[in-house]
Amino acid sequence: MALNASSISLSTSAVEQRPADPPAEDAIKVVCRFRPLNTAEVKAGSKFVAKFTDENCITIGGKVYVFDKVFKPDSTQERVYDDAAKSIVKDVLCGYNGTIFAYGQTSSGKTHTMEGVMGDSDMQGIIPRIVNDIFNHIYSMDENLEFHLKCSYYEIYLDKIRDLLDVTKVNLSVHEDKNRITYVKGATERFVSSPEEVFEVIEEGKSNRHIAVTNMNEHSSRSHSVFLIHVKQENLENQKKLSGKLYLVDLAGSEKVSKTGAEGQVLDEAKNINKSLSALGNVISALAEGVRTHIPYRDSKLTRILQESLGGNARTTIIICCSPASFNESETKSTLDFGRRAKTIKNVVSVNEELTAEEWKRRYEREKDKVARLRGKLEKAEEELERWRKGETVSAEEQVSLKDESAAAPTPSEPAPQLVPAKPTMVASSISSDEQERLYQQLDEKDEEITQQCQMVEKLKEQLMEQEELISTSRRDYEKLQQEMSRIQAENEAAKDEVKEVLQALEELALNYDQKAGEAEGKTREFDVLNEELTQKQAQLNSTLSDLQTLKDMSSHQKKKTNEMLASLLMDLNEIGQAIGAPLVENIKLGEKVEEEFTAARLLVAKTKTEVKNLVHRCTSLENTQTDCNKKIDEYEKNLAECRLKLAQTEGRITALQETSKEIESRKRALEEQVDSLNHECTRLRAQESLGPATAQADTTVKEALEKQLEQNREQHQKQVQNLRDEIDAKQAVIDQLRDTTQKLACQQQQLQDDYGKLKSEESDRSSKLQQLILAQEKREQARKDLNGLQETVSKELQTLLNLRKMFVNDLQNRMKKSVGFEHASLEVAEDAGGSLAQKQKISFLETNLEQLTKVHKQLVRDNADLRCELPKLEKRLRATMERVKALEAALREAKEGAMRDRKRYQYEVDRIKEAVRQKNLARRSHAAQIAKPIRAGQPQHVTHPIGIRGGGGMTASTIKNGAND
Ligand code: ADP
Ligand code: MG
Repeated sequence: MALNASSISLSTSAVEQRPADPPAEDAIKVVCRFRPLNTAEVKAGSKFVAKFTDENCITIGGKVYVFDKVFKPDSTQERVYDDAAKSIVKDVLCGYNGTIFAYGQTSSGKTHTMEGVMGDSDMQGIIPRIVNDIFNHIYSMDENLEFHLKCSYYEIYLDKIRDLLDVTKVNLSVHEDKNRITYVKGATERFVSSPEEVFEVIEEGKSNRHIAVTNMNEHSSRSHSVFLIHVKQENLENQKKLSGKLYLVDLAGSEKVSKTGAEGQVLDEAKNINKSLSALGNVISALAEGVRTHIPYRDSKLTRILQESLGGNARTTIIICCSPASFNESETKSTLDFGRRAKTIKNVVSVNEELTAEEWKRRYEREKDKVARLRGKLEKAEEELERWRKGETVSAEEQVSLKDESAAAPTPSEPAPQLVPAKPTMVASSISSDEQERLYQQLDEKDEEITQQCQMVEKLKEQLMEQEELISTSRRDYEKLQQEMSRIQAENEAAKDEVKEVLQALEELALNYDQKAGEAEGKTREFDVLNEELTQKQAQLNSTLSDLQTLKDMSSHQKKKTNEMLASLLMDLNEIGQAIGAPLVENIKLGEKVEEEFTAARLLVAKTKTEVKNLVHRCTSLENTQTDCNKKIDEYEKNLAECRLKLAQTEGRITALQETSKEIESRKRALEEQVDSLNHECTRLRAQESLGPATAQADTTVKEALEKQLEQNREQHQKQVQNLRDEIDAKQAVIDQLRDTTQKLACQQQQLQDDYGKLKSEESDRSSKLQQLILAQEKREQARKDLNGLQETVSKELQTLLNLRKMFVNDLQNRMKKSVGFEHASLEVAEDAGGSLAQKQKISFLETNLEQLTKVHKQLVRDNADLRCELPKLEKRLRATMERVKALEAALREAKEGAMRDRKRYQYEVDRIKEAVRQKNLARRSHAAQIAKPIRAGQPQHVTHPIGIRGGGGMTASTIKNGAND
C-alpha cells in the first residue's frame, strides 16, 4: 500500500505524504493475555485450563500456541503496557502508523486491558498510559519540533459508524484519500495539547456512548470502539513534516451466537457483529495465506478502517484476551487460533513523510536516469526481438539480461516500488490499474450513495414510526373522546333532571326568599327603631354625662361656696361676739328664744317617740294575731287529718261490703243452678212417667211424694231467695248511706283544704306585712337613734352656747363694772338697740344661708348617691375599653413582628438570587473562546495547551478547529 501510494503521489504536490525511508517488512505483533478466573466461573466450578509453559507459549487442551508474549493472569497493567504497547509511542512520534487492538470473547478483559480504570495509576490500561507517554516524549524531544495532535472517537455498531464526539453523526462512511489511505469521513476531530484534554475527550465520548444505550455492558460487547490519535510534527529547521496515526481499538465480543442464546434483534446484532468480526477473520486469513489477489477489506467498515493496520503501512499489535476457564475453552481456542493466524501477517512499514521540493527534485532526477537507462535497455531488447523475428538467432552473450538490470537498477537504499510485496492493489492480474482505480472510485461512490440511502431510509423509518404513533395516539384520543362524549351525554341527561329539580328548588327558594325578605325588612325596621332608640339613649347618656359633669362642677362650686360661707359665718360670729359685748339684755332675750326653739324640738322628738311607741304596739298586736292564726291553722290541720282517717275507714268498710255482696251473689248463683238441676230432673221424671203407663199406679205414690218434696224444696228456695234479697237491699242501703257520708266528707275536706289555702295565703300576706313592718320599725329605730344622737349633739351645742352666754354675761358684767359713768348708760342702751337690729338682720341672713346650704347639701348627697350608682357601670365600661385597647395593642405588635419577619425573608431571598445571578454571569464568562497556544518539545508545560504542541520557543497562536478534516 505504501509503495502504491508513492507511485501515485509522484505526480502530486510536494506536501503529500509518502514513505521516505525504505519500507521494511514487519510482522504483526500478537500478545496473549489471560485474565484470572472470575467469581462466576469459580462458582460454576470451572477449572483453570491454561498452562503457561514458556514466556511466549501457552498450552490449552494439549495444543501449544506461540505468541510474541503471553501474559499470565497475575500480570500487572504496567507490565502489559511495557511489553505490548510502549514501543508504539516512539514509532508514532517518528512518523509511523500504529494500531493496537484487543480481541477476545466478552468479559475476557479487552476493556480492562485497553482502558482499565482511568485515573488510577496502577489499574489504568493501555490508552491512558499511551496518552501520557506521548506527551512525556514530546516534552523530551528536540526543541525545533512542533507537534499538532488531534483525536477522534467513534464506535461501529451494526456496521454503522457512530461519532462519539457528536451524537448527531450516526452513520459515517469510510473514504480513501489521494494516497489510497482510508479514513472516516466527517468524524469529529478534537485538537488536544495535554493528556487531561485527551482524557476529557475520552470521557465525553464514553458519556455519549452511555446516552445512546441503556445497557452499557451489553452494548459494549456488541460494538467496536475506535480511538484515534493523529500526531503531526514539523521540524522548524528543515521543514520536514511527519505524521502518524495511532488506532486504539476495543473490539466487540468474539463469542459465538449460539452460546449467548440470542434471539430477535439481539440475534441480528450478534450476526452483524460476527459478520464484521468474521470479515476481520477473513482478512487476516487471506493475509496469512499470502493471497495477494484480493483481500476482502470492503466486506465491513471495521476492516476498511483497519485496512492500513492489517497488511498495510502500520505497526500493529493485537492483544488476544482469553478466559482461562474450562467453560470457555472452545472460545479461548478459537481466539488463540485467530491470534496465530494474525501472527503470520507481514506489514510493510514506512515513515509517513511530507517531502520538501528539493527532495522531490533529487528523486525526480534519479527516476529520470532510471528511465533513460531502462529505455536504452528496452531499445536493445527491441533490437534483439527484431532479430529473433527475422529468424536470426541471438547468441547468449548478445541477449539482453533483464534480470541483471532489474537487480542492479535500484540503489540499495531505495528499493524499487514495484518490488515491495503484500499490496493487494498491485496484484491485479488481468484488470489494468486504471480500470481498477476507476472501479474502486465507483465503489466508493456507490458506498456513499448507499450510506445516503441508508440515512434516508432511517429518516423515513423514523417518520413512519412517528406517523404510526401519531395515528395510534389520535385513535386513542378518538376513542377517549367517544367515551367522553357518551359520558357527557349521560351526564347531560342527568343534569337536565337535576336542572328541573334545581328549578323547583329555586322557585321554592324564591318564595322563601320573598318571605325572608319581608322578615328582613321588618327586622331592619325594627333595627332602625332600635338604632334610633340607641341613639336616643346615647344622647341621653351624653346629656347625663354632661349633667354629671355640671353637677360635679356645681358640687365643687357649692363646696367652695360653703367653705366661703362657713368662713364668713365664722367671721360673722366673731363680729357678733365682739358686737355682743354691750347688748347683753338683747342676748338674754335671744337665748330665751333659742330655748323656746329647743323646747319645740323636744316636743317634736316626744311626738315622734309616741308615734314609734304606737307603731311598736301595733306590731306586737299584729304578731299576736299571727300566732292566733297559726294556732287556728294547726287546729284545721288536725281536723283534716281526722277526716282523712275516717274516710280511709269508710273506704275499707265499703270494700268489705262489696266483698260480702259478691259472696251473696255467688251463693245466689249456686242456688239458681240447684233450681235448674232440679227442674231438669223434674222434666226427666215427667217423661219417664209418660213412658211407663203400666206402672202408673205404683208410680203415683212416688210421684206424689216427689211432688211434695218438690213443693217443699220450692218453698224453701223461695224463702231463701226472699231472705237474700232483703239482705241485699239492706246492704245496698248501707252502701248508699256510706257513699253519702264519704261524699260529704270529701266536700268537707275540700272546704277545709280551701280554708287552709286561704289561711296560708293570708298568713304569707301577713308575714310579708310583718316583714315590712319590721323593716319600718328598724328604720324607725334607726331614725330614733339618729334623733337621739341629734338630740344629744343639739343639747351639747346648747350647753356650749349656754356656757358661752354665761361667759359673755360674766364678761359683760365685768366690763360694766369697769365702765366709768352711770350717766353714759342711757346712750349706750340706745346704741345697743341699733346694734341688735343689725345683728337680727345678720342672723336672719345667716339662717337663710344655712337653709340654702342644707338644701344644697341634701341635693349633693343625692347626686353623690346617683353618681355612686353610675360609677360601677362606668368602671365596667372603662375596664372593657382598656381590655380592648390591650388586645388591639397586642395584635399590632404581632402584625409588626410578622412584617419584620417577612421583610427579613424577602431580603434573604433577594440576596440569594443576586448571588446566583452573579455566579451564572461568572460561569458564562469562563466559557468564552479559548486561544490556542503551541507547545514545544523539551519544555514540559503544566498549563493546558489547546492545540499546537511545538518544540522551541515559537509562540504562534492558533485557534481550535473542531471537525476539521485532512
Ligand atoms: P470485555 O471488555 O472483554 O468484555 P472487561 O474488560 O470488561 O471484559 O472485563 C470483565 C471483568 O473482568 C471486569 O470486571 C474486569 O475488571 C475483569 N478483568 C478483566 N481482565 C482482568 C485482569 N487481567 N485482572 C483482573 N481482572 C480482570
Ligand atoms: Mg468491553
